[in-house]
Amino acid sequence: MKVVLCGGGNAIHVLSAYVSSKDEIDEVCVLSLFPGEAERLRNAIPEKGIQCINDLGDDVFGKPSIVSDDPAEVIPGADVVIFALPSFTHEMYLKALKPHLKRGVTLGSMPGEGGFDLCAIHNLGGDFVKASNLFALETLPWACRIKEYGTSVEVLGTKKEIDIVVSPKDGSTVNEVLGLLQRLIGKEPILKPACNFLAVTLMNINSVWHPTISYGFFRNHDITKPFDEPPPFYEGADEYTGEMLAKVSDEVLEVKRVLLEKYPGLDLSSLTHVRDWMLRSYGDDIGDKTNIYTMLHSNKGYRGLSHPMSEVDTPEGKKYVPNFRYRYYTEDIPMGLVVTKGIAELAGVPTPNMDEVIVWCQEMIKKEYVVDGKLSGKDVDSSRAPQHYGFTDLDTFMKQNRYI
Ligand code: NAD
Repeated sequence: MKVVLCGGGNAIHVLSAYVSSKDEIDEVCVLSLFPGEAERLRNAIPEKGIQCINDLGDDVFGKPSIVSDDPAEVIPGADVVIFALPSFTHEMYLKALKPHLKRGVTLGSMPGEGGFDLCAIHNLGGDFVKASNLFALETLPWACRIKEYGTSVEVLGTKKEIDIVVSPKDGSTVNEVLGLLQRLIGKEPILKPACNFLAVTLMNINSVWHPTISYGFFRNHDITKPFDEPPPFYEGADEYTGEMLAKVSDEVLEVKRVLLEKYPGLDLSSLTHVRDWMLRSYGDDIGDKTNIYTMLHSNKGYRGLSHPMSEVDTPEGKKYVPNFRYRYYTEDIPMGLVVTKGIAELAGVPTPNMDEVIVWCQEMIKKEYVVDGKLSGKDVDSSRAPQHYGFTDLDTFMKQNRYI
């Protein structure tokens, strides 16, 4: 079996070590389209391979056979292709891979934020995707950091359980694909099948959490004035932010209600309110379960995390300004909340609270998605909203993407 890993950062270091060390895999290749990265990585990997030091107590070494920047060199014959990349690069990779991919390939992304399937169908073609196993993990299985480039990487934390969505080809099953991926990443995290791509796209917790909490905090601050310290992310949220999170999530659930009314056979059971998601995910780590605001402030798992900031030198010394190039904005808006907004628009559901968050964030990242409550801004085509892929009515969107 031949596996191609796409990317070149922290996660690709971990995957290179894990997958290359498996006996059932004949060949592991790495493909990086980031200029100069493939050569740099190829030259940095020692003979014994990349060492992955992990929190489960079993260090792993593995060496990919080829590290290339040329899809024609590594993609032909690939049985499995895994993306571990920021989502804004997915389209570029899919376009580059398309001429070389074999029918029936198993292809997916970790993480595969909102609309990964839309992006794959648009770029590879519906028939090709139907004949492939497409998968997406809700997040990366590990918190990981390169220790020494090309040589060693550390898994700081292996998640316990994460959702995976699989759309199997004819003759294959979700369990088959899931079993293969589970063997590649190891015993943990346990991959738990989610209902379908639509449910996963709408249940994108990052797309609700990160933009709304950022808006809630910075709306009261002069962002041109540097901060002495990076402000706390979850513990810095005020009551207004807690209510806003609830309202944005209410709007997502209204989309669910309308979809289920129209398509009663649709399974969106894994799509829940963010309040319930938090209780399920953190349980007893939360001290005060009164409302979202109190939960954000009393969740042990959220302690000590701060807003993404950049350091700046000022006459009074080192200070911090918000980093709007961070994935909380550059991924969780165009591949997150904007995708949900697009589906809401097709379903005819008004989303004034979601719009308020998007409008503030788009201004910070100098983009334009929502104008006067409509997804008609000039940058919709750089998002993964259904409208970017030409969908203008709900039935066509639901049928062509095989949600019904
Ligand atoms: P990383 O930042 O280490 O690597 C990103 C890779 O993406 C780069 O090595 C490069 O190959 C590619 N890339 C970045 N910008 C590019 C561009 N403009 N053009 C072409 N290629 C480009 O990321 P990572 O830590 O390996 O994580 C992979 C994904 O998982 C990211 O989306 C990240 O946000 C997410 N994630 C990471 C962690 C973690 O602990 N590392 C945790 C959760 C989620």
